[in-house]
Amino acid sequence: MKYISVLGATGSIGTQTFEVVRAHPEQFKITSFSFGTNIQLGVELIEEFHPDRVSVATKELAEELKRTINHTCLVYYGEEGLLEIATDAASDILVNAVMGSIGLEPTLAAIDKGKTIALANKETLVTAGHIVTDRAKNKKVDILPVDSEHSAIYQCLKGEKKSEMSKLILTASGGSFRDRTRADLQGVTVEEALNHPNWSMGSKITIDSATMMNKGLEVIEAHWLFDTEYDDIEVVLHRESVIHSMVEFIDGSVIAHLGTPDMKVPIQYALSHPNRLELPSGKRLNLVDIGTLHFGKMDLERFPCLRFAFEAGKTGGTTPTVLNAANEAAVEAFLNGRIEFLEIESLIEKALNQHVSINEPSLEEIRDVDVASRRFVQSLIV
Ligand code: NDP
Ligand code: MG
Repeated sequence: MKYISVLGATGSIGTQTFEVVRAHPEQFKITSFSFGTNIQLGVELIEEFHPDRVSVATKELAEELKRTINHTCLVYYGEEGLLEIATDAASDILVNAVMGSIGLEPTLAAIDKGKTIALANKETLVTAGHIVTDRAKNKKVDILPVDSEHSAIYQCLKGEKKSEMSKLILTASGGSFRDRTRADLQGVTVEEALNHPNWSMGSKITIDSATMMNKGLEVIEAHWLFDTEYDDIEVVLHRESVIHSMVEFIDGSVIAHLGTPDMKVPIQYALSHPNRLELPSGKRLNLVDIGTLHFGKMDLERFPCLRFAFEAGKTGGTTPTVLNAANEAAVEAFLNGRIEFLEIESLIEKALNQHVSINEPSLEEIRDVDVASRRFVQSLIV
């Protein structure tokens, strides 16, 4: 039996994690979880999974929750609450599926406790990749990727030698606006941007997919997870999301990971690793039905956010922290109807341009740069 804590239980990855646990009650037990404000779903999950501890966004919501639930458990709140869940002594694995860089400190706290990290929260690696990976190495903790591309690469690298790998090839579906030119992006609505062709995900990552920042964050995530130079990471457009990513080796062989677009596959793999389990509800890949797979070159002029990410990653220091925090602030403003879609990238560019990168930043410097970058972006929004 593996004991599991989940951050972001009510989200897209969180709810699919619970589906995986539900399908394998003999393998997995939930000991604790956090969510933000979705009390209704949170209560349902508490009554079904009977955790020992839970955490919500605010003190008021914690009080409301205590009045509502029949199951007896400890109720925490806020960032302290996330740390309580992350360090739950009863769990072996932390599934980090919270949205944003708020996931960083709980990840570090769980690593310090020696827990395996099933990481969906890519912002953690973008904002402080060197600290997270060093800490995990020192504590001999595994970080198992939940992001489908990284889970794919992780599986392609199984049994291979790092020295024989020549490059990583990340695939990108192209997001909601893949068939539009830049001129067609003027005035697009939040609703249009949230309509992803292949995946059903939380709103922030769906917008990140439309701007291609998601792929940019994933490039930085891959750099840290697989200790790979940015020049050895390639992004290829692949509309069908059937090949989840690939690895090219020095002899020219390319190993790819294929499957239907279903996040339960990488979630379950991170939980069951090093074993595989049945995924009863999952649809099987039928290549004959699909017939043709398409690939295209990634246009960095059409998708400047991907260029920003490569540049920020190569600059290193606190520059990826700025990239991530400015993006979080800009996407939030877009989702709240305060800015236009194309302003997301211009705000990020301005935040990057005004920043003087700090090398080998401490956690405190990262925290400060994160806050300052969000403030900077907000100050530009009227
Ligand atoms: P969602 O927006 O669907 O879910 C986010 C979860 O985090 C919810 O449970 C939400 O609670 C909670 N949350 C948000 N903000 C806070 C906060 N300030 N304090 C406490 N809890 C909070 O996101 P996704 O599941 O789509 O994504 C989660 C992470 O996984 C992201 O980093 C994303 O990039 C990554 N990821 C997601 C994929 C997907 O398919 N969805 C694929 C690959 C990676 P509530 O709703 O109750 O307020
Ligand atoms: Mg992904």
